[in-house]
Amino acid sequence: MIRLHDKFFKPFLSELQIQGAVRRMAEEIAVDYKDGNPIFVGVLNGAFMFVSDFLKAYPHPCEVSFVKLSSYQGLTSTGIVETLLDVPDNIEGRSIIILEDIIDTGRTLQKLVHLFSNTKVKEFKIASLFYKAEVYNGEYAIDYVGLEIPDKFIVGYGLDYKELGRNLKEVYQLNQKHMINLVLFGKPGAGKGTQAQFLKEKYNLKHISTGDVFRFNIKNGTELGTLAKSYIDKGDLVPDEVTIKMLEEEVDKNPDADGFIFDGFPRTTAQAEALDNFLESKDMKIDATIALEANDDILIERLLERGKVSGRSDDQDVSKIKNRFEEYNSKTAPLKEFYEDQHKFHSVNGIGSIDEITQRLTAVIDSLKA
Ligand code: AMP
Repeated sequence: MIRLHDKFFKPFLSELQIQGAVRRMAEEIAVDYKDGNPIFVGVLNGAFMFVSDFLKAYPHPCEVSFVKLSSYQGLTSTGIVETLLDVPDNIEGRSIIILEDIIDTGRTLQKLVHLFSNTKVKEFKIASLFYKAEVYNGEYAIDYVGLEIPDKFIVGYGLDYKELGRNLKEVYQLNQKHMINLVLFGKPGAGKGTQAQFLKEKYNLKHISTGDVFRFNIKNGTELGTLAKSYIDKGDLVPDEVTIKMLEEEVDKNPDADGFIFDGFPRTTAQAEALDNFLESKDMKIDATIALEANDDILIERLLERGKVSGRSDDQDVSKIKNRFEEYNSKTAPLKEFYEDQHKFHSVNGIGSIDEITQRLTAVIDSLKA
């Protein structure tokens, strides 16, 4: 295990595995470009090590150049790709092979394709040492791939975490084991959102409320918002496939979080199973599910009060509130057993002052860390 800045990383690919992949790529491309004198264009900074080893393994005449783009800051791709070093001169009529260290969402690649689309090159190919097929959503097919890897944050062999780690001969992956991931459970009005605000500060967690994400989308008139509104207005659950996809995207937006509070998700067994599978694929897991218990009469009173202030349509009508309780009883309550089977279910009395309830919750969380 190594430490870079505030994060721990564990071994993922050995020097031997990487060198093997580089050699295979050089051999494959050598067959296609034996007499072609291609120009290999490395994408800085990450690809410098790959380019160097690749060229040493490439047996035929070739030239080399570099472009530089930037999109990653820390662990998160910012989505904005800038050109810092432009396409080389005199490439008209030449075969260009881009050498990338890693392709994930494909945003950088899209920018590269665009950069070269105005040039009169003979041929344009992409070779990437690492490729995250699971998250790639670009249109361009990758021509040469060294190793297909799962969607994990990696460092080493040219790749960095906040500029550290580029000099490592091996590749390491982010170790997620120290995270705390919580599910806050409870009927509407139980105080999940209120408590999440305190817990996220105290434990430095990212709070994801699926209800809030839906409301944000409704407010902004997105396609997702329009779809969800019809269900939410009636107090029905939004279909699983929509909610699961949305939740996964929210988690993916925060790869550097120290943990998550899932509030209002999962609400069905299918969602709980999807969450387990999704987290497992990222080397993460749920540590505890904590239910805030309160009786229906108190909850109805709280929700009607909240409805007056927030204007939420689903909080202003007793029949809609009751429908939400029914949805909870029939679809969400069975999750208690799901998490009990995993020894992860905890119940907390949700009646009392906000402060008292926070203390009950922190007692459970601190017992997990002990
Ligand atoms: P909340 O703010 O958690 O009470 O959620 C408000 C509404 O958003 C719910 O009544 C549902 O219509 C929808 N919603 C929120 N989370 C989910 C979920 N996990 N599955 C399905 N629908 C959800």
